[in-house]
Amino acid sequence: MALRIVIVGGVAGGMSAATRARRMNEAASIIVLEKGGYISFANCGLPYYLAGRIQTEDKLLVTTVDRVKERFNIDARVRNEVVAINRADRTMEVLDHRSSTKYLLGYDKLILATGASAIVPPIEHGRAPNVFLVRSMEDTQAIHNFLKLSKPKSMAIVGAGFIGLEMAEAMRDRGLDVCMIEKAPHVLPPLDQELCPRVQQELIAHGVQVITGTGLEALRANNGNVNEIVLADGRAIKVDFVVLSIGVKPNVQLAQSAGLCIGPTGGIAVDAYQRTSDPDIYAAGDVAELIHGVTGKPARVPLAGPANRQGRLAGEHAATGSSRPAGKVMGTAIVQVFDLSVGVTGLGERDARKAGFDIDTAYVMPNNHAGYYPGAEPMRLKLIFGRQSRRILGAQAVGGAGVDKRIDVIATVMHFGGTIDDLAEVDLAYAPQFGSAKDPVHFAAFVARNQQHAEAISPAEMNGQQLIDVRTPAEYAKGTIKSAVNIPLDELRGRVDEIDMLRETVVFCQVGQRGYVAQRILQQSGVISVKNLKGGYSLAKDAQLA
Ligand code: FAD
Repeated sequence: MALRIVIVGGVAGGMSAATRARRMNEAASIIVLEKGGYISFANCGLPYYLAGRIQTEDKLLVTTVDRVKERFNIDARVRNEVVAINRADRTMEVLDHRSSTKYLLGYDKLILATGASAIVPPIEHGRAPNVFLVRSMEDTQAIHNFLKLSKPKSMAIVGAGFIGLEMAEAMRDRGLDVCMIEKAPHVLPPLDQELCPRVQQELIAHGVQVITGTGLEALRANNGNVNEIVLADGRAIKVDFVVLSIGVKPNVQLAQSAGLCIGPTGGIAVDAYQRTSDPDIYAAGDVAELIHGVTGKPARVPLAGPANRQGRLAGEHAATGSSRPAGKVMGTAIVQVFDLSVGVTGLGERDARKAGFDIDTAYVMPNNHAGYYPGAEPMRLKLIFGRQSRRILGAQAVGGAGVDKRIDVIATVMHFGGTIDDLAEVDLAYAPQFGSAKDPVHFAAFVARNQQHAEAISPAEMNGQQLIDVRTPAEYAKGTIKSAVNIPLDELRGRVDEIDMLRETVVFCQVGQRGYVAQRILQQSGVISVKNLKGGYSLAKDAQLA
């Protein structure tokens, strides 16, 4: 009898598993069961279809049931939902929604790639016909039809994470009034607080009303349709429809009722080969837990890259009995917010501290390519690294073009356990239209290294020190930090005697570079304690400390 591999879930993890299994084992019988109406659709493209940038729905279908049959000899069955697994006799119960019949299906190896579901808060009208999720093709079709038929003018998005932000842009593209509500103090909660104002400004500049620090309390409806949302702070906002994007939860019910081990994060626990607590059952993608590449601890990272890689690995192992172990996952992610790109990898400062790392951070604000070449765009890049170990633990970047490249380079260095010294020395391609001879990632690493002999403090750590603003008088006149004295860098050597040598001193410029030069001058002129302000005036201003 041919080995039978059954895969539950036919999207990123599931279809990667199925096609890899086929390439590894031509003789196996491979069946994919998908409860929805489509396999292999591009979840990541859904907001752009709704925006009208991807014009037709078929562009979202990476492949179809017929194509996988023809090319891979895979039996993919849509609208077939697995409702129970019986591990004792290695069978499962499948509900075929097309015929409303149930059947039993046996397996030798089973791969669970059931993904995650969008969270719906348990409130009245949470499932009203004009309250939408953005998870499946069917969800997207429902929004698309609603836009076409009801011609709404206003909407609210609850949750300003990655999908919420993409939806805000999509709905502005459609000309709607968009109100975004985020319970956390700022949009994009994975991002460290001081990097968020730039993102928030971008949303506001593009006409999005942003409300942070208060959550959704209630939905009010008229004739069953929601027409008003009520916030925890008592405000009420009239809307024509609502999109909920407050996070996802892994679809572990099947695994749970089959008695498989669920890990501490709520995902299915797996080993390095994606095997669950039953060695004949694998789990891959959003439903599975993984070991975080920085903390070494269990985590859930519901992103397409890990889902595809895990599916591929599970498919290979199920089909052949061996494979390489799973690689590291750093949680590298990127999102576009109108003209801004926001990228993250590894741990942010807050999470790194929470995880118990002794960390330092470095900020730079370089251009994406040589400033003299037309079109250069600035980015703010933050590096999080071990104070003693010098190991890079994470990076976050907000800016225009080139954010993706820097985050990916840093993620690659992190993959190999690299330090700030490795990052400072990595050899990168350069021509003026692509980068700088000293790339933004090099600058970030240089600053991190410099801080080992020239201490820097973050805006939040300022507490009454003597402040020297070393920018030009013109810059100073436009705004500075309260109590700062202006001594421009180029005059500093001649005016050192104006500084109280015995007082703790903080120097700052616009972004930190001239501040470092000033710091070195003062350190060597006998000022007893002089620190450079991380990210300079611009970061202090963003952090609302200037
Ligand atoms: P899913 O893609 O969720 O697929 C699971 C499938 O299993 C579903 O189709 C479901 O119907 C099926 N299923 C569940 N239970 C059963 C059952 N009992 N029987 C049969 N079938 C079942 N990630 C990025 O990295 N970058 C992005 O830009 C990005 N953008 C996104 C935008 C949107 C709008 C969404 C929704 C997600 C986005 N993601 C992005 C996340 C990414 O799409 C997911 O991490 C990825 O799809 C997870 O793949 P998966 O196979 O684990 O789960």
